[in-house]
This record gives sequence, C-alpha cells and structure tokens, in this order.
Amino acid sequence: MPGETKQFYEASNLPAILALDVTELMNKGYSKKSGQQDIEVRGVMKLNEPMEKHISWRTGGQAECYFKPADVDDLCSFLQQIPEHEPVFWLGLGSNLLVRDGGLKGTVIALSGVLNDLHVYDDTSMHVGAGVACAKVARMSVKAGLAGGEFLAGIPGTMGGALAMNAGAFGGETWNIVRSVETVNRQGQRIKRDASEFETAYRYVDLPEDEWFISAELLLSGAEDTKGSERIQTLLNKRAESQPTGKASCGSVFRNPEGDYAARLIEVSGLKGESIGNAVVSEKHANFIINSGGATAGDIESLILMIQKKVKLDHGVDLVPEVRIVGEDKKV
Ligand SMILES: Cc1cc2nc3c(=O)[nH]c(=O)nc-3n(C[C@H](O)[C@H](O)[C@H](O)COP(=O)(O)OP(=O)(O)OC[C@H]3O[C@@H](n4cnc5c(N)ncnc54)[C@H](O)[C@@H]3O)c2cc1C
Repeated sequence: MPGETKQFYEASNLPAILALDVTELMNKGYSKKSGQQDIEVRGVMKLNEPMEKHISWRTGGQAECYFKPADVDDLCSFLQQIPEHEPVFWLGLGSNLLVRDGGLKGTVIALSGVLNDLHVYDDTSMHVGAGVACAKVARMSVKAGLAGGEFLAGIPGTMGGALAMNAGAFGGETWNIVRSVETVNRQGQRIKRDASEFETAYRYVDLPEDEWFISAELLLSGAEDTKGSERIQTLLNKRAESQPTGKASCGSVFRNPEGDYAARLIEVSGLKGESIGNAVVSEKHANFIINSGGATAGDIESLILMIQKKVKLDHGVDLVPEVRIVGEDKKV
C-alpha cells in the first residue's frame, strides 16, 4: 500500500540526516531508520538523488532513495530488510530510461560498477555480473578468443540492462548468447535459471515480476579467434557513421515496427530537426532524440508524443517506445 511506503520515509529521522552528508554516513554503516526497523547497508545510500546524473539523456527528476549495494550479499540483505511495499526500481547505466521530472518513488537499486565480476571459465563460457558494462563484456570476450559477443561493444548499458531489454545490434541479440542467469527476488533469495525458462523476443524478455538479474553465464564460440577486435572496430565505425554518438540520448526511442524502421517513418514525416524545448529529433538518425542542453524529461516526452501522432497520421503506424518511461509527472 502506498501509505506504508510513505511511512517508511516520513516516520524516519531523515530531516536531521539530510542536513549532513548522508552518503558518507551510510558508507560508514549508518542505518536508514524507519518507524519499524533499521536498515543496515554496507553500500552507498543517498536520499533525493538527481537521476540526471545516472541517465544518458542527462535529465529527469530525483529518486527518493538511491542504493548502490557493496556486493550481492549486501543487495540480498537490503531486499530482506525493506518493507514489503517499498517500490524498487533497478538501474543499470540509464541508457534506455526516461525518468519523469517529478522523480521516482521508493528506492532505485543501482548496479553499474558493482556486481562486476567477469571471468572466462572454460573454452566458450563467461560469467558476467549484472553491473558489468556491455563494452567490457565484448572486449574481454574477444581478448579470450571468443566470438559472438562483439555486438555488445556499442551498447552503452550494463549486462543487467542488456538482459532486461534483450539488447541487440547488427544481427546479434543478448539472449542468443545466454546459457543461464542468476536472479534475485523481492525476498532477497537468489535463483538460478536456465535460459530456456525465459520467453524472449525483439527487445523483450518475460522476467517474472519482482525478480531481477544479478549475473549471466554466456555461451560463446570460436576459441582462439583472433579477429574479434577488428570486428568490434568495424561495428563501432558503422555506429559512428549512422548515429549521433557522444550526444545525450537513449539510443533508439521507438521499436522498429514489423517489416519497417521507425527512423524511416519519422524521417519521411519530415521530423528530423523538430524540437520541443531543448529536445531535438536528431538530424543524423531520426529515431534518436537529443538533449541539446537543458531539456526536461517533459520536453522529451512531449516530443515522443508529437512524433507518435504525426507518424500515425502520415503512415497509420503506432510507434511503440523502446525506451522505458518511468516516474511521476512534475506537480505544477
Ligand atoms: C547511444 C546509444 C546507443 C544505443 N544502442 C543500442 C543498440 O544498438 N541496441 C540496443 O538494444 N540498445 C541500444 N541502446 C539502448 C540501451 O543501451 C540498451 O537498452 C541497454 O541494454 C540498457 O542497459 P542499461 O544498463 O543502461 O539499462 P537501464 O537503462 O539502466 O535500464 C533499462 C531497463 O532495464 C531494467 N534493468 C536494468 N538492470 C536490470 C537488472 N539487473 N535486472 C532487471 N532489470 C534491469 C531497468 O529497470 C529498466 O527497465 C542504446 C543507447 C544509447 C544511449
């Protein structure tokens, strides 16, 4: 119930804590006090954390609470301690997210840079923690002489995000190289699951509710392959030619409709360069929206809606966002 969640914050002594450096206190093992219980964490915990710091669009509201666990045990322990109805939202590198200007209720659990174990453990397999950057997975796989993970090089997210989105590029798709995963549930229990337990499709995986990825076993091929780095470079070059890399974006905003490309439809509708506030449809790739500086999440969402309306009018196609839009509208 939302009321209980609210109590979790309001019954605390947070105002006093807020005047201090909360992160530092939390790092020292300070406990987040609630009316009913103390939550002990070893990782970093921050209150009212601006999500623009963690989202590749560089905009968006605040998270009520932001938690970066020290390790898997700390994460499980945190999940075991939080109230049953505390909303939790999982964050990788924020490269496929729009957090509305009113922010996120509850706790954002951030895994980038933690849960970052990565090792090759036989000729064709890799263990990858959910917080490892996809680019690193690609690099380390080719270093080990493995083939099949190169497409991950240009995806600016974490392994956890790639699993959740079934991220893909240039013909490669995350779940094509997954043998098994480990997840954690709301009760902080760890679960091993074979890839065959998941139904996957284009940018889709049927992850059970209240269960999230903490690691994956990848199955690659071609031990002793020496051309992997070249293949990565070729893919990165292709990306740089066709996409506005280096600009604040979330990559492709819309899923490609069956048999067509969202970018083509948007371009034919004459929307390249169209803007709302400082959110602009990229001139280089029409399926990218750029924050040209100071765009609000509201500007971006309004531009998304405007594109959907125009494409529907011109082509009769309903464009579906690939980007996940979350959080609350700003109260006026
Ligand atoms: C310049 C650019 C280029 C891009 N190119 C591509 C591309 O070629 N192909 C492609 O598929 N995508 C692309 N993307 C989009 C994005 O990088 C991918 O969707 C990526 O997989 C998101 O990973 P992330 O860690 O940033 O996830 P986030 O954006 O942090 O989260 C995305 C979703 O995954 C969930 N999630 C994150 N971690 C976990 C976890 N551990 N367990 C469960 N759920 C989790 C979040 O709750 C959220 O719903 C691009 C983005 C940018 C900015």
